[in-house]
Amino acid sequence: MRIPVKRTVLVMTSLMVPLGALRSQAPITESHAVSAPISGVGYHITIDSADAAQRRIRVAMTFSVSSVSPVLLAIPAWTPGSYELGYWAKNISSFAATAGGKPVSWDKTDYQTWRLRPAAPGAISVSFEYRNDSLDNANSFAKPELALLNGANLFPYAAGRPFEFASTVELRVPAGWRVATGMTPAPRGGYSASNYHDLVDMPILAGHFDFDSTKVGNGWLRFASYPVSEESASLRESTLSNLSRIIGVESAVFGETPWRSYTVMQIADSAFGAIVGLEHQSSHVDVTSAFVIGQPVLTSVYAHEIFHAWNVKRLRPADMWPYEYAHEQPTTWLWVSEGITDYYADLALVRSGVSDSTAFFTTTAGKISEIDALPPVGLDDASLSAWIQPTDGTADSYYSKGSLAGLMLDIMIRDGSDNARSLDDVMRTLYHDAYKAGKGFTGDEWWKAVQSASGGKSFADFDARYVDGRDPYPWASVLPLAAMQLVADSTRVPVLGVTMGEIQGGGPRVMSIAPGSTAEVAGVQPGDQLLSVGDIPGDAPGLAEHLQARYGSETKVMIPITVNRGGKQLSLVAPLDYTWRVQRRIEPLAGASAKAVRIRSGILHGTTG
Ligand SMILES: [Zn+2]
Repeated sequence: MRIPVKRTVLVMTSLMVPLGALRSQAPITESHAVSAPISGVGYHITIDSADAAQRRIRVAMTFSVSSVSPVLLAIPAWTPGSYELGYWAKNISSFAATAGGKPVSWDKTDYQTWRLRPAAPGAISVSFEYRNDSLDNANSFAKPELALLNGANLFPYAAGRPFEFASTVELRVPAGWRVATGMTPAPRGGYSASNYHDLVDMPILAGHFDFDSTKVGNGWLRFASYPVSEESASLRESTLSNLSRIIGVESAVFGETPWRSYTVMQIADSAFGAIVGLEHQSSHVDVTSAFVIGQPVLTSVYAHEIFHAWNVKRLRPADMWPYEYAHEQPTTWLWVSEGITDYYADLALVRSGVSDSTAFFTTTAGKISEIDALPPVGLDDASLSAWIQPTDGTADSYYSKGSLAGLMLDIMIRDGSDNARSLDDVMRTLYHDAYKAGKGFTGDEWWKAVQSASGGKSFADFDARYVDGRDPYPWASVLPLAAMQLVADSTRVPVLGVTMGEIQGGGPRVMSIAPGSTAEVAGVQPGDQLLSVGDIPGDAPGLAEHLQARYGSETKVMIPITVNRGGKQLSLVAPLDYTWRVQRRIEPLAGASAKAVRIRSGILHGTTG
C-alpha cells in the first residue's frame, strides 16, 4: 500500500514554497491537501487504570483557527527510525471535534487525514482513542502498569503546513506511575516542544519501572527498566556504567555530547522473542526478550541506538531532511545511517573496554559470514529497498554490509593518511558541515569527506564496486593494511535435515524437514519422535555434534533412523547428507608492518597518529 503520488507531491511542494507564496498562489479549497493554519496547539493524553486495562490511550488536541477554512489534521504514516509504513491512524477510533461545546463537522480525505469544517473562528477541541496491544517501539500502547507513548502515533498535525510550530503536552496517568521522557518540562506543568519534529521524537514511558540516573560529562544519563526488578540493583549499576563508557567514546567521535539528558527506556517481556531498539535524539526505546537481560548483545544494542543520536537523528541523509510523515522517505544512504552506526557500536564496545578486541574480531567475522551467505546486493539498493523488506534474505543487509563498508573505509582512510585521519574525521566533518548547517548530507558531500580524510585518494572505484556494485569485499587485500587477516576453517558436517521442537509436555518432536534432506528421503515426518539416529539416541542433547563426532569423517553412510510415530516404532534408512560449514575468524596478522599495527591499534582505541 502506498500513499497516492499526488499527495506526496503536494506535501513536498508546500514544504519548499514559502507560506506567503502558497497563500497567494493556492487559495485553500477542498481540493488542496493544505490545512487552514492553526495556532495555540496543545495535546492532552489521559490514561486511567480502566483505560490501561482496555489498552486504550485517550488523546485530545486543542487549537484555534482564525477562519472557517477547512482544517486538515493528519497522523503520521511512519515513525522515523523505523523504515516501514505503519499507518498509525488505523489504531484511532471515536474521533470527535467540538467548538464551544458544539460538534464540528468532519470527514476523512484519506486514511490518515481528518477534514474539519469550523462554523466560526475560535477554539476547537478534537478527541479520539488510540488502541494497540502490540509491543512495538515505533507504536504506542497502554497496559496495566505501563504505557509507551510515541508522538508519531498520537499527535495530529495540520497537513501541508510547516512543522515548525510550538505545542504543549499534558499527561494524566494513574497515581504512582513514573514518567521517563526526553521532553522539556513546561513551566506550568506538562511538557513543551518548539516544533513537531522534536515533539514526535521524544517518547514518554509511563508506569512502574526502575529508574536510575548518573551524571555523564555535563549531562544526565537515565535508565528506565521495566518491569520493576527485572534487572537487579547490581546489574542496573553495571548497565549505567557500561552506558556511561559507551557515551564517552561515542561523544569523542563527534567532539560533543548533544543532549542535557539521555534516557534509555527498556521494556523486557518474556513472550517477546527478539531485541529491537528505536533511536531518538535524546533517548531510545528497547523492547527485548527477558532472556537477554544481562547479556552482552543488549549492550551492543545500547551502543548502536545511542550512536544514532548523532548519526541519523542529527547527521542525516538529505533524502530524509527534514522528516516528512505522510509518506515514506526512501534513501540510498541507510547503509551509512544504520550500517556505519553498527560499525561504531562495535567500536564503542572495544574502545570503552566493555568488550575486548577478540570480541570485535568475532563480531566482524560474523558479519562477513552473514553477508557471504546472502545473494549479492548493492548497499545503495539494499538501503533503498528497506521500505519493502525484500524476501530474498537481503532485507536488513545494509546493517552488516554497511558496517563492513565502514571498516573498509576506516582502514583505507587510515592507510591513505598514514593513520593521521580515520572514519571519525568523516563523521565529524559531515556533522559540522551538514547537521550544524541545518541540512542533510548528500552523496557528493559524503565521498568528498572520505576523499579528503584519506589524503585525496579517489573512492569512485570503491563506490562503483562495493556500494553501487555487488563485488565481494576484498578482505584479503584490505585487512592486512590494519594488521588483520581473515581465516576460514572449512569442516565437513553431516546433516540430517530436521528441525526439532517441543510440543507441550510431549518431549522433543520433529517440527519440520528440509526438502531433499536425509530425513525426507528416509521418510521422517513432522511430529515423529526420534528414537535413534545411527548409534545415537534421538533425544541426545547436541545431536548434531554427536553426528559430527561419529560420522563426520566417514563417506557414503547409510544411516538407520528409528522413530516413534503415534505409538508405533518405525525403522527408516537413507544415505547421510554432508555439507561444508565455513567458519571465519579475524586474527591479528603476524609480521605486519609497523604502520599496519598502528592502524589496527587506532581502530580499536579510537586514536590516530
Ligand atoms: Zn539502527
